[in-house]
Amino acid sequence: MFDVAIVGGGPVGACAAALLARGTAGGGGALRVALLEPGAPAPLPADAPLEARVVALSRASERTLTRAGAWPRIRGPRLSPYERMRIWHESVAPDSEQVLVFDAADAGEPNLGFIAENRLLQTALLGAFTDAGGHLEPAQLSALEITDAGVNLTTSGRALSARLVVGADGAQSTVRRAAGLTAEVCDYRQTAIVASVATARAHQATAWQRFMHDGTLALLPLADGTSSIVWSADDDLAAELLGATASGFAQQLDRASDLALGSTRLVSERTSFPLRRLAAQRYVAQRVALVGDAAHVVHPLAGQGVNLGLMDAAALAQLVLAAAGEREDPGALGVLRVYERWRKSEVALMSTAIDAFDRLLAHGSGPVARVAQRGLSWVNRSQELRRFFIRRALGMSGELPLVAR
Ligand SMILES: Cc1cc2nc3c(=O)[nH]c(=O)nc-3n(C[C@H](O)[C@H](O)[C@H](O)COP(=O)(O)OP(=O)(O)OC[C@H]3O[C@@H](n4cnc5c(N)ncnc54)[C@H](O)[C@@H]3O)c2cc1C
Repeated sequence: MFDVAIVGGGPVGACAAALLARGTAGGGGALRVALLEPGAPAPLPADAPLEARVVALSRASERTLTRAGAWPRIRGPRLSPYERMRIWHESVAPDSEQVLVFDAADAGEPNLGFIAENRLLQTALLGAFTDAGGHLEPAQLSALEITDAGVNLTTSGRALSARLVVGADGAQSTVRRAAGLTAEVCDYRQTAIVASVATARAHQATAWQRFMHDGTLALLPLADGTSSIVWSADDDLAAELLGATASGFAQQLDRASDLALGSTRLVSERTSFPLRRLAAQRYVAQRVALVGDAAHVVHPLAGQGVNLGLMDAAALAQLVLAAAGEREDPGALGVLRVYERWRKSEVALMSTAIDAFDRLLAHGSGPVARVAQRGLSWVNRSQELRRFFIRRALGMSGELPLVAR
């Protein structure tokens, strides 16, 4: 029997697996860990072009990935540090004084975080997990049987049993369903379009974000000088953008970016993601814990999904390793409830803030929205407020797991 079986080797499940297998999360030796992932990607060849699907990793995530043993594999020429964020509303010009600017230098930091390809992040974590002696099972979970002594997992490969099962199997989580945990889902009626673009002007290691009445556009700086766009557009507009020719799309993008980086040219395929918020009502049950998108899905406008999930992984690993160090059962509900209270409140805070940004800045009209839009320039004028938001962007606020501090 394994101590822990993790279902789903996306970035969050693989991080929880690596931390538990290494036993680095503050006291407690390594555990016997199995990770189920039917679709583990192959590592990227060093000379492969950069992929458009990227995530912005916070400082707290960088520290967690370091303790998970993955950072040395991520760090390198494919990784792009970003030093600044420029955030503005469509009612002002991209070079106006009212643009909200967060600069790492204002907080005495070398950067605000890193843009990393999803695939690089995932393969680095899977490599760190197997190097730590973890067992990777290339199979899909189909059913769970939870007993007083442990959990039996039926999979498309071999059957497994463990004292704790962690659901890291994404928004459509089989673990969540099999454990009878319910989730509230809300459709934003928006679609995120992701692609890489070349821009006439250099990105200046800056993440650019423009709020518009029909969505939000982010341009994230990549290591090869191109930018990855995440354009969260109302569904009708998104359908039009996905159906447009490459040059028609670039023209619409030039309008949406207000030429902040000059004219743009598509250099990758466009991919799209329907956007929904998801919040599991409970994150835990006897011998079961949910992490990452299996527990909560937030709007991508703040680039926080993976960062929140990595903090779930770190918090759960810390508590489970501490319990195992005390010879307690890692699947005991008492241990898991501490995890749930800790992470549910942190996620609720972030999710509420993100939704307020979407409602007031990306879609809002009327007096409240106008105050929110003006708020961007008020924040800009106060060094204290800017520092406060920079700490949040670095992920260095709230109750952090030990490995993230
Ligand atoms: C357009 C867009 C942009 C984003 N940008 C950012 C960003 O900049 N920063 C950020 O922090 N977040 C970002 N996010 C959010 C981020 O991508 C997700 O939060 C993150 O991928 C969640 O990771 P996860 O490991 O929890 O789930 P997933 O990545 O969904 O991984 C789940 C894994 O479980 C496996 N699985 C599923 N079912 C089973 C089963 N039955 N048995 C076994 N395995 C199973 C799957 O194969 C998969 O590998 C963005 C999201 C979108 C849509």
